[in-house]
Amino acid sequence: MANAFVAGNWKMNTSISEATMLARSLRSGLLGIDGVTQVICPPFVSLAGVAAELAGSNIKVGAQNMHSEIKGAFTGEIAGSMLKGICDYVILGHSERRQLLGEMDDFINAKVRTALETGITPILCVGETLEQRDNGEAAAIVQGQLQGGLLGLSAEQIEQSVVAYEPVWAIGTGRAATPEMAQEMMGLIRQEVGRLSSVGIASNVPLLYGGSVNTENCLHLASLKDLDGALVGGASLKPDDFVAITKAFGTRI
Ligand code: PEP
Repeated sequence: MANAFVAGNWKMNTSISEATMLARSLRSGLLGIDGVTQVICPPFVSLAGVAAELAGSNIKVGAQNMHSEIKGAFTGEIAGSMLKGICDYVILGHSERRQLLGEMDDFINAKVRTALETGITPILCVGETLEQRDNGEAAAIVQGQLQGGLLGLSAEQIEQSVVAYEPVWAIGTGRAATPEMAQEMMGLIRQEVGRLSSVGIASNVPLLYGGSVNTENCLHLASLKDLDGALVGGASLKPDDFVAITKAFGTRI
């Protein structure tokens, strides 16, 4: 069984000093919670400060994106090699980037490969829109994004990755997937990851659910068989809530 895993995506929130203060609160709030991999993903400009604040703690730092190329003329972009040493994780293929910035599976796949080659663990996000769910296409869309995102990876590389299922209609809307919907899709994701690697490897890949995870629904979500953890947006900016969510996943057996 994969380790319990909770990651906070701060998105484009917090100034540099707010990020450091938030990291400090989380460091004391999360102290003593064992058995859960804890990751926070601040904006790029705060990564170094947050990493310094968290040095010596169990909390890992992740980036919210990176480029697929290792260097060069890509104005405004950040390479994996620049994150190495600060970040252990990177969120890739977030639906906000797919939707607002037009990121496609092949580009996301190139980033996933570069992250793994750089020694940074990718958190590959997949998820359908409301329209796709209403049209009965959710499973096919998620399967396609998984196949696209993990294309060409060896079984060992898949084992070093994390997958987050984030239905687009549940992100930032306060409308989380029902536990039944989440379990159904997470089961399919586990199966597909297994088909792309092996059943044994798939059972070790942390599968996260994301989309309006909060202090009210986290315990129920944490009880689901194929859900190893959560990718938390809004609630990750509230230290008490993020700590409560992390504790909930710590109860998972
Ligand atoms: C996210 O953007 O990754 C996310 C899950 O956001 P929220 O928890 O706010 O829905």
